[in-house]
Amino acid sequence: MKIEQKVKQTLKKIKLNKKEKIIVALSGGKDSTVTAYLLKKLGYNIEGFHINLRIGKYSEDCLEAIEKLCKDLKIKLHVYDMKNEMGSGMCYLRTSIQSSPGKGRLKNCAICGVIKKWILNREVRKLKADKIATGHNLDDEAQTFLMNIFKGSPKLSVNSGPITLNMHDEKFIPRIKPLFYVAENDIREYSKKNKLPVNYGACPCALDSYRIQVRKFLDTLSKKDKENIVKNFDKLLKKISKSKDDKITYCEMCGEPSRNNICKKCELMKIV
Ligand code: AMP
Ligand code: ZN
Repeated sequence: MKIEQKVKQTLKKIKLNKKEKIIVALSGGKDSTVTAYLLKKLGYNIEGFHINLRIGKYSEDCLEAIEKLCKDLKIKLHVYDMKNEMGSGMCYLRTSIQSSPGKGRLKNCAICGVIKKWILNREVRKLKADKIATGHNLDDEAQTFLMNIFKGSPKLSVNSGPITLNMHDEKFIPRIKPLFYVAENDIREYSKKNKLPVNYGACPCALDSYRIQVRKFLDTLSKKDKENIVKNFDKLLKKISKSKDDKITYCEMCGEPSRNNICKKCELMKIV
């Protein structure tokens, strides 16, 4: 099936409405670029949001690609500059966290992911948007699902479907993944065929060895196998999400929605 058809089906499944204001989280890479391109092409009401992580030349290239994309698509772009807003870029912040007691073994991508999610929810809420769209694809999801199984809890994947479930709170902006069922290679091909402005370079900090190991293993499987992993996960998700909503509370330190008294981001930054 063609990528556009797959995305249409996914959007239908999650009942996305064309009147909703959707903020696409743009990293500058192929996945989120294709997400914005397709949502716009299919007539959705979108704006772009980019977190400038200030990781040297890599971040400059990302921003350049995103500015061109938003100009081409004629959509508004919001940029959150980490250095201006939080006082330092992602590298410095991450290194400080990793050098604090007990946090040395935390992976780069895990730390960056928690901080990005925190920023996204808070800033997109200020923009009064209905949903956040990210570029997560079939390969990412199969990896995350397997990693959660290997770590012992498929329940950890409860927020990993094409739309977030079980997180109903006025301060929490639901996240959607239009490329949930689309394989990474097909996205790369599509972005090249349509000559989209993409930074194909990898983030210099992405050294999460465990995810790379799982990715290598998944790369030995066929696309069909990966699709089956994600489809089986989907079935499981329906069962897990039938169980009651997880209790949402507000973080004692920052006031953001959280499952615990202190949110993951504040937990990380507590003693920095
Ligand atoms: P990653 O966590 O890098 O695998 O990225 C997953 C998704 O998060 C991407 O497809 C984007 O939608 C979003 N994202 C990643 N980095 C950024 C960023 N710097 N600014 C905005 N959104 C981002
Ligand atoms: Zn917090």
